[in-house]
Parts: sequence; structure tokens; C-alpha cells
Amino acid sequence: MDVNNPNPAFGSDLEPFHGIPTFMRLPASRDFENVDIAIVGIPFDSGATNRSGTRFGPRKIREASLQLWGYNQVLKVAPTEALKIIDYGDVSVISVDIRATMDRITADIKSILDQDVTVVALGGDHSISLPLLRAHASKFGEVAVVHFDSHPDTWDWEYENQPYSHGTPYRRALEEELIDTDAYLQIGIRGPTSWPKDLDTAREMGAQILTINQVFEMGIPPVIETMRNIVGDRPVYVSLDIDSVDPAFAPGTGTPEVGGLSSYDILQLVRGLQGLNIVGFDLVEVSPPYDHGDITSILATNLAFEFISLLALQKTISQE
Ligand code: MN
Ligand code: MN
Repeated sequence: MDVNNPNPAFGSDLEPFHGIPTFMRLPASRDFENVDIAIVGIPFDSGATNRSGTRFGPRKIREASLQLWGYNQVLKVAPTEALKIIDYGDVSVISVDIRATMDRITADIKSILDQDVTVVALGGDHSISLPLLRAHASKFGEVAVVHFDSHPDTWDWEYENQPYSHGTPYRRALEEELIDTDAYLQIGIRGPTSWPKDLDTAREMGAQILTINQVFEMGIPPVIETMRNIVGDRPVYVSLDIDSVDPAFAPGTGTPEVGGLSSYDILQLVRGLQGLNIVGFDLVEVSPPYDHGDITSILATNLAFEFISLLALQKTISQE
């Protein structure tokens, strides 16, 4: 780092409690010139079937990001140095209209992807993955997906003719053929389900599942190897529902399921994506009103930091 031109993300002239909380103090901007990554907030939680509050997720994750310093000690990269990153602000969601909101998300994300900028989306509930996938599939075609979650999100729930919620985005995405079903992996699935066959339904639609039991029986390194073998060199979209993590580490979420990954497990799994052809990220279901001591937001912002670190390594490799 050039000490005469301090990168704001390093907090060199401001303490974490000072100033305006954009993500890592990066510029709030919609000017895409030479930009590599846009951090995009999607504060929408009307897709939640139980506890809401994820509309407050993006802002809280940004606030927690002021405690991130710039250098990733594990991946050996300083993402805000290697890449030009902006904080796009939030998509203008309409909390009472999920369809109109989804259209706005797809339109905004498409306009960003059109500039060859990679999106890191901060939710919001998991319903936002469907419009995000629509935008990504329109640019990249059917994408491989690595989906961390305790729920398959492939319910066939059309209560009162409402096909869209945070329980259904992956059913809809599979129906709309946005996902390459040769390479769709769900990791961390667990908890009681409505019916014995809930997971079979997801598998029949094309998901490969590593339940939490399998993850812990295998151990993290073989899970990473499985993930990498399934994805190969396909363009891959990564969707991380924070409820994949145990509520002891991530209580601030709408639909917690006990017996999950630790903070360290999820960090290691995300780092295991290194070198894959990642085309997009979302990080969803952080619900600050249910959080304690901001631990969920702090984990989430560290995961977002790992995402941008992976993208920084990806760019460095592609330039070699
Ligand atoms: Mn989910
Ligand atoms: Mn979930």
C-alpha cells in the first residue's frame, strides 16, 4: 500500500466508529468506469415466511464492515488494492410488492453485469436469489450454483397463489432453467421438514445435497474437494444463506436451524472456492433484530470480505 495514498478500506485515517458506513468505506458510486466489483444492498424481507428483519441486513453488514482491515491473511491478498470496488447502495425495493421488487432487482443487476462488473449482493431474504439468478443467467447462461443453506428452498409452496417467497427461489430458478443441473450443490441442509420427501424433491429437480450430517462425517477438506469437482470450470454463482451457520454463531436470522456449521467452517468452505470461475455472490438472511452483539453481521461482513478476496485472486490469476 502506498502510505501517501491510503486506501480508505484500511481505515488508516478513521476509526471504525467514525464516518459514513459504506462497505469498507469504499466509494458510494454508480460510476462503473474501470470498476471490478459492486457491493449491492437488497433490503427486502417480505419473502420471509416466519421472522422478518432482513431488510436491516445490508446496512448492518456495512456498519460491521468498518471493523474489517484490508489484508486477507489466509488468502494472501488485499482485495481493495487489487480491485476497484464500489458500494452501489441499495436496490429500490418495494416492501409490499415482491414481483415488482424482483423485476427491479433483475433490472439493476443486469445493468451492472452489462458493465462487466461482478456483483456481491447483500440481502435481504433468500427470495432475492431468483431475480439475481435471472440477471446472471441472462449474461452467463445456465450457471453452476454452490448454495450454502440449512434449507433446500425448493418448496412447492403456492399458498394463495403466491409462488414467490424465501422458501421457493431455487424451485423457481430450476423451473426457469437458470441453473446448470449438472453442477448445483446444496451444502449444510438440515432440520425438520414438512414431509419425509422434501430433500428428495430437491434432488429430483437437480440439486446434489450434502446434508450437515454428511459434511461433519466427511470433514471440511473433502467437502471442498467435492464442491470443486462438481463445479469444475463452469461459471458458478455462490449463494450463502447465513442460516447454514449454527444459530450459536449466527442467531440473527429468520429461520434458524440448530446443529450447523461454525463460523470457522463456513469461512474455510468459502475459501475453498478459490480458483473457481465465480461470476456472482449473494449473502442473505441476516436479520439484525434477532442478532446478539452483532455477531451475525460481523460474520456476514467477514464472509463478504472473503468473497471479494476470492474475486481479487481470480483477477490476479486471469492476468498472469
Ligand atoms: Mn435459504
Ligand atoms: Mn435457510
